[in-house]
Amino acid sequence: MNWFDEHRRDLPWRNTDDPYKIWVSEIILQQTRVVQGLSYYHNFIANFPTVKALAEADEAQVLKVWQGLGYYSRARNLHAAAKSVVRDFNGTFPSKYDDIRRLKGVGDYTAAAIASFAFNLPYPAVDGNVLRFTARYKGLFDNIATAATRKKVTAICQEWMPADHAGTFNQAMMEMGAIQCVPINPDCTQCPFATTCYAAIHHCTDTLPVKEKTTKIKDRFFHYLIYLKDNQSIIQKRTGNDIWKGLYEFPLVETETERFDLNLFLQENDIQTNGEPQIILQKKHLLSHQRIHLSFYIIHPEKLPKLTENQQVTEAKMLPKFAVSKVTAEMVEMLGQ
Ligand code: SF4
Repeated sequence: MNWFDEHRRDLPWRNTDDPYKIWVSEIILQQTRVVQGLSYYHNFIANFPTVKALAEADEAQVLKVWQGLGYYSRARNLHAAAKSVVRDFNGTFPSKYDDIRRLKGVGDYTAAAIASFAFNLPYPAVDGNVLRFTARYKGLFDNIATAATRKKVTAICQEWMPADHAGTFNQAMMEMGAIQCVPINPDCTQCPFATTCYAAIHHCTDTLPVKEKTTKIKDRFFHYLIYLKDNQSIIQKRTGNDIWKGLYEFPLVETETERFDLNLFLQENDIQTNGEPQIILQKKHLLSHQRIHLSFYIIHPEKLPKLTENQQVTEAKMLPKFAVSKVTAEMVEMLGQ
């Protein structure tokens, strides 16, 4: 904590004990780096300054503010949880660990972070930084990707944690991992633990922590059809329990493999075109468990195809108004140029 006092970064969510702001920052930082997350945090709080304001907002509005951050289920969960805080706790953010933990999208780590930062409750917040630091310091060779190791590290932190300073202790631990005990080549000569740390003494910072990935990446093939007719296009809302739920996109054909015969598709769906359809962008988009192979095609139909239930016709110039994924936003921007 002495080290933290001297080295801490001045981050906006560190200067507040408002559990709502701490919660928003923690959710943003789950899959986003601090530098990128900062502007989103400020913008989110400016748009939804209180949990009540967030609960009363439209989902589309929340997704629009989140646009570009990715992992949109985080935004949907924040919105749903804000509604439950208003409904079940009369708009006051819960102050008990179990109540916080039950909010949608809040796991053990986030609940402990909010409980300790806002209410100084003695729950260790064990994130990747804390896992790395503790594994190196204690010489733990267990796979940090497993729940059992997380439990072990939580128990160690619980022992280390001074009862009256849970919030500062957790922040100090996380900051130690984030800026001192960094993943690659930590400068142990600058570390206050250099003489007591297992990894420093045994020169094994490159082998600790042990992390064996178990997740398999699934390949998916998305073919987006951008119909353009008299400055109008078709856009659809994603439904179902899948990535980018609730966001808008161009009509999509998903295939099992990369093979997709667009001309055959158009023929089968009785869509006559003026000129050959063109493929204008192909790229890969990596998510935590999926690799999406994206292709965008421009099609000039003689008339716009019949709409399905979740589709609508929009003027092409209105496309930037829709909440869309990062890749579709890139495409919309290209279309506007
Ligand atoms: S001495 Fe090195 S390995 Fe140990 S905690 Fe400090 S930075 Fe990490």
